[in-house]
Amino acid sequence: MAERGNALTTGFGKPVDDDQNSITAGPRGPVLMQDVHLLEKLGHFDRERIPERVVHAKGAGAYGYFEVTADVTGYTKAAFLSEVGRKTDVFVRFSTVGGEKGSADAERDPRGFAIKFYTEEGNYDMTGNNTPVFFIRDPLKFADFIHTQKRNPRTNLKDPDMFWDFLSLTPESVHQVTVLFSDRGTPATYRHMNGYSSHTYVWHNAAGEQFYVQYHFKTEQGIRNFTAAEADAMKATDPDHATRDLFAAIERGEFPSWRLEMQIMPVADAEHYRFDVFDITKVWPHTDYPPMTIGRLVLDRNPENYFAEVEQAAFNPSNFVPGIGPSADKMLQARLFSYHDTHLHRLGPNYHLLPINAPKHAPMRSYQRDGAMRFDDNGGVGPNYWPNSFHGPAPDPGAADPGMPVTGVTGRTPYPHPNDDFVQPRALFRDVMTDEDRNHLVSNIVGHLKNAQERIRLRQCAIFYKVDPEYGTRVAEGVLVDAAEVKRLAAMSAEERAAATAE
Ligand code: NDP
Repeated sequence: MAERGNALTTGFGKPVDDDQNSITAGPRGPVLMQDVHLLEKLGHFDRERIPERVVHAKGAGAYGYFEVTADVTGYTKAAFLSEVGRKTDVFVRFSTVGGEKGSADAERDPRGFAIKFYTEEGNYDMTGNNTPVFFIRDPLKFADFIHTQKRNPRTNLKDPDMFWDFLSLTPESVHQVTVLFSDRGTPATYRHMNGYSSHTYVWHNAAGEQFYVQYHFKTEQGIRNFTAAEADAMKATDPDHATRDLFAAIERGEFPSWRLEMQIMPVADAEHYRFDVFDITKVWPHTDYPPMTIGRLVLDRNPENYFAEVEQAAFNPSNFVPGIGPSADKMLQARLFSYHDTHLHRLGPNYHLLPINAPKHAPMRSYQRDGAMRFDDNGGVGPNYWPNSFHGPAPDPGAADPGMPVTGVTGRTPYPHPNDDFVQPRALFRDVMTDEDRNHLVSNIVGHLKNAQERIRLRQCAIFYKVDPEYGTRVAEGVLVDAAEVKRLAAMSAEERAAATAE
């Protein structure tokens, strides 16, 4: 017997008398159409699934806060960064990228690191990864790249040929491939990894001065990675280990935290900088732009309901606040479109009204109206157009970005910089990695690349050889291809190499 006030009801509030026995004609059936409670229950169940994210489908999230620890008003006028000690509510979602919603957390994959700051000037989203770079620098390649990391259209299996064919034909990927196949490609938990903006963004201060910036959220738990063997064991024993770890740590009161370090470059420096600051396959070496600690991110509260708060969370790199804006990075520019677009598909045109996505500390006053699932007052009696003379909300010119000068002729052209795809992975391989890191890197690659066709193995080894002859030669030995042929292919242009290794 339900207590008074706790009776089960239909979706429309009618008390339900029995939730165990369908209405039938006689005790042995058949079931009658008039059991509207049954029909409603089944009809809703049949529609429980929404499209999973096409990338970053498997994830975990938590609430917390961001606290400013250094004065950055010289660089940005963003209100939430305006004062040391100021705290802003956040929601953070971590994820793998390529796997489906039920895939294992320990897969080798970049990890998403997305933060929603609920500021008084609207929501600001930072959609980063646990790696500072990316595989490609032009968004026209994105859909193709992701297809190769997912399933073969014929077999529905992950396919090493697709995976390495694309990467070996796209040499700009080798920096990210080298990070991914280091043990950083299998972080031990979401708590033990860094988050990077990867993209260059623009900050501007109250005087309108602009700066290029890169965000680095450094784990205060320390970096901890799985070896390939540990990751494989974890996949077999607990495919949800990182989701479980995050939830359990917060329940125990062990609140994970990250230090926000910024690299900040005056816009004028970028013109003559040795790398293109918009090229997401590059980092800014720390010696050029030493990271400055400016804040701290802490996660201290678990969601109450996974679907409502984590599955429906919709991060969008085009959610900026005054004082922060996009750079010309081509990948970023495309993400400004694509995230909003995919949320419209996945959650509907009013996804911004869902409690997890709506601004919490800023008013939301727009002339957008109607659309499926409009569940607030839809603007009430107010006007639904601008300009109007009925006291509707008016644009605020003070919120404008200063703007960037642009020049050039339209066309499909690559970034105009010399062929420097190998410089930074070379620094990583030679100068940053320890002997143990290099050993793991080579064996992690060999364990995957050995399953691709020989001509693809040769082509990919040539890319590694261009990074460093030792790197290419060791992988070649591991995947049983001729090291002399790898050296010969490495000396060719990308086009010649592709032709020499065609099917
Ligand atoms: P630094 O020696 O100043 O920085 C090297 C950085 O590499 C470290 O601070 C650490 O980044 C990161 N790192 C350490 N071990 C690994 C690993 N096994 N796999 C991946 N990253 C690792 O040199 P530079 O700034 O001149 O960069 C040299 C190379 O280091 C770059 O070409 C790039 O490949 C890599 N790197 C650089 C970063 C940057 O923003 N400058 C960031 C990450 C990697 P962290 O402190 O962020 O953990």
